[in-house]
Amino acid sequence: MDMTLENLERHWMPFTNNREFKREPRLFVRASGMHYWTSTGRKVLDGSSGLFTSAAGHCRPEIATAVAQQLQTLDFTPSFMRGHPGAFALADGVAALTPPGLDHVFFCNSGSEAVDTAMKIALAYHLARNEGQRSYFVSRERAYHGVNIGGTALSGMMRNREAFGALMPAVLHLRHTLLPENRLTRGMGRTGAELADDLSRFVNLVGEKRIAAVFVEPIAGSTGVLVPPRGYLERLREISTRYGILLVFDEVICGFGRTGEPFAATSFGVTPDIITMAKALTNGAQPMGAVAVRDSIYRTIVDAAPDGAPEFFHGYTYSAHPAACAAGLATLEIYRSEQLFAKGRELSGYFLDAMFALQDLPAVSDVRGFGMLAGIEIKPGKAPHGAGVHRQPRRYRPDGLDAARGDRGILIRMQSIPSDARVVIIGGGIVGCSVAYHLAKRGCTDVLLLERRQLTCGTTWHAAGLVGQLRATQNLTRLAQYTTQLYEGLERETGQATGFRQVGSIAVAASEARFEELKRGASMARCFGLEVQILSPGAAQERWPLLATDDLIGAVFLPKDGQTNPVDTTRALARGARSAGVRIAENIKVTAIRAARGRVSGVATEQGEVRAEVVVNCAGMWAREVGGWANVSVPLHAAEHFYIVTRPIPALASGLPILRDADACSYFKEDTGKLLVGWFEPRAKPWGEGGIPESFAFEQLPADLGHIEPLFAGAMRRVPALESAGVQVFFNGPESFTPDDRYLLGEAPEMRGLYVGAGFNSIGIQSAGGARRSSATSATCASARSRRSACYMRCIGRSGRPRPRAGCASQRCTTASLQPGHASERWRASSAPTGSPPKVPSRATTTATAARTGSRARPPSTRRSVSGSACSTSPRSPSSC
Ligand code: PLP
Repeated sequence: MDMTLENLERHWMPFTNNREFKREPRLFVRASGMHYWTSTGRKVLDGSSGLFTSAAGHCRPEIATAVAQQLQTLDFTPSFMRGHPGAFALADGVAALTPPGLDHVFFCNSGSEAVDTAMKIALAYHLARNEGQRSYFVSRERAYHGVNIGGTALSGMMRNREAFGALMPAVLHLRHTLLPENRLTRGMGRTGAELADDLSRFVNLVGEKRIAAVFVEPIAGSTGVLVPPRGYLERLREISTRYGILLVFDEVICGFGRTGEPFAATSFGVTPDIITMAKALTNGAQPMGAVAVRDSIYRTIVDAAPDGAPEFFHGYTYSAHPAACAAGLATLEIYRSEQLFAKGRELSGYFLDAMFALQDLPAVSDVRGFGMLAGIEIKPGKAPHGAGVHRQPRRYRPDGLDAARGDRGILIRMQSIPSDARVVIIGGGIVGCSVAYHLAKRGCTDVLLLERRQLTCGTTWHAAGLVGQLRATQNLTRLAQYTTQLYEGLERETGQATGFRQVGSIAVAASEARFEELKRGASMARCFGLEVQILSPGAAQERWPLLATDDLIGAVFLPKDGQTNPVDTTRALARGARSAGVRIAENIKVTAIRAARGRVSGVATEQGEVRAEVVVNCAGMWAREVGGWANVSVPLHAAEHFYIVTRPIPALASGLPILRDADACSYFKEDTGKLLVGWFEPRAKPWGEGGIPESFAFEQLPADLGHIEPLFAGAMRRVPALESAGVQVFFNGPESFTPDDRYLLGEAPEMRGLYVGAGFNSIGIQSAGGARRSSATSATCASARSRRSACYMRCIGRSGRPRPRAGCASQRCTTASLQPGHASERWRASSAPTGSPPKVPSRATTTATAARTGSRARPPSTRRSVSGSACSTSPRSPSSC
């Protein structure tokens, strides 16, 4: 392409130093996914997804096809007095994402137009209610609300206003919330909620019924990501309601998943009267903006107009342009089918970790962030904005190495791995990180954890995060009990928030047999010092008011059970391990396990060989394959696990205990006003029979509504409020299960020095802490207890029969097992006729089915453990994930 000064000069570029640019042009000619390509062929990581536009990645073919088809079918129709189906479908799609009540959508072409449209709607609304004297608007210092006259007047960024005179005079600005006290705060700052009281001061200044609307970006974007202080938005909501002022959230940047929810309003739990949006509405592929308003606002304006006349004299030639609507519909479908909002939520901790890792760089003065939005403040250069302005072009230049650049060096850190480590852990899920943490705690810090992609990306990221303590046997209960104690103090110790809350748990029984089982479990629990209470149905309902109790016999309550955020908890374990000296390397794929004379000697990776005395296989769903590299049998198989997350349920109290209803195969977890409802169904769906795809990371499986429908019906009987709750997320993700529903922990019988910590049967989060006691920690930092566990694994051997080995007292080999009675249980089972059907249709049975169905799985009879052994007693409660 010819780039002479002459042909660049005619385009007057927006918000650009035209003279500088045209001297040294920076052109992008192609984009795909999260990269641009410059005109010189250089690939650049797009760290701000366009201008916060391209949330689903650049050049999505689904959007391009939808737009092309639309342009070939109906390229344009005015939206005045006419319409086309796409506009109505898109309005439905948007309204399904906005908080309840904001059900009417007005389309325009940009964020600026959305803001000015919202201003006019506010004025028209007050006029229709005979409060036409409300002509003031309130916004905030440092705000950006676009570039039209209204939006510029609202803006609080001096440079955007100073050239344009008085603009609209009746605009007042709240003080901004960028407080030094909140510097380097992750998420919402602690101080500053009282700054919202400026709105009351303005009411006192201009009069009670003079302010039409207050505009705020929930997270101020263009000014450098200002996350609201805790309580600030709530206080604004409360004051605006008190004085009849419309609260407008400008979500042009923070809408569509940036905060982990469709809109920041949902993330912060504050519902405004109007939301403005644009940018990611069409994934940046077509210009479009929109304004969503409360039903009462729409009705007031529409009902006040004379019959036969348009009600609102406002609109753009290109309002609801067919091509933009097609792009919007295709975009929303991508968000839905790829569950991008949920992914954003799950990835947020990881992303913010990476951002906050920059805080010690000399050029950085502040880091702020929430969800998938972060701002890094660069120390000022000699003139205001100097540092930033100079860095922009340098970031583009191939030789412009810069500490804060986004395309190489920081966001994607180059790493090299050592050639030796005493212990190599394969897999960066919660179990791998827990093993690393506990090794470090015991003084063994020469540990290298290798993760093929990113920490938590296999199954940990989508776990429900329940932390229960009562398990089927004494040892399993002890392990889970230890996990709870660990999580209680982990945040304090590591400084990484874990989201752990000790809300308790209630298990309900709808039959005498189930109640008997629960009560037996309760007496066992008491023997280990677990606090447990037997509840009548009425008492259970007092603790869980939305519970239907008509068919219940009783319940047990464990006040010390809890819930945690699996990703954050994993990160806390990783942080604890790292700070003690453990090395954790992501994006390093292990390709083989090395051994010599029956003993492990290291691993091969894509970046070279690493010698090790001990290798721990914590590869989750991939653990069987990883074991297979060393001819070690790791009998587990993935099965699909389903849960849903409802929309907010107003009647749902916060801090409710986890609820388990084994008879309905369901568990329920309250989180930020919504319910997560999951199932362990009698007939599970095996997954990954052809092998787990290597590239599988942070992915989910297609929703199977037919499969969960009967389960959902059972859950609705237990919690009837679900009937009207509305579902925000249908989640389906794989979990790995063992044929007998027991973990696989300890040294592998086939190879010395090779340990396994896998097969957690969907309870990895609550088991991870305890898992350390029985796996690799024994290898290097042995305690008698963990040696015994390792010994157990070895003694069981391939046949499944206890097999004493040299140097191991036979007494110990048969009795000091991981779970008392478990060894003999396995032994008994292994002598049962192979292929005899499991007796109880519990989760264990279904996972055994999964293992059997798998074409790659060897039949369980040839494996170390045998299906049906662990579930031949009473049906067991679905446990947590
Ligand atoms: N409102 C906010 C909060 C914005 O961040 C922006 C642009 O970044 C706008 C409005 C204006 O949007 P547009 O540039 O599409 O006119």
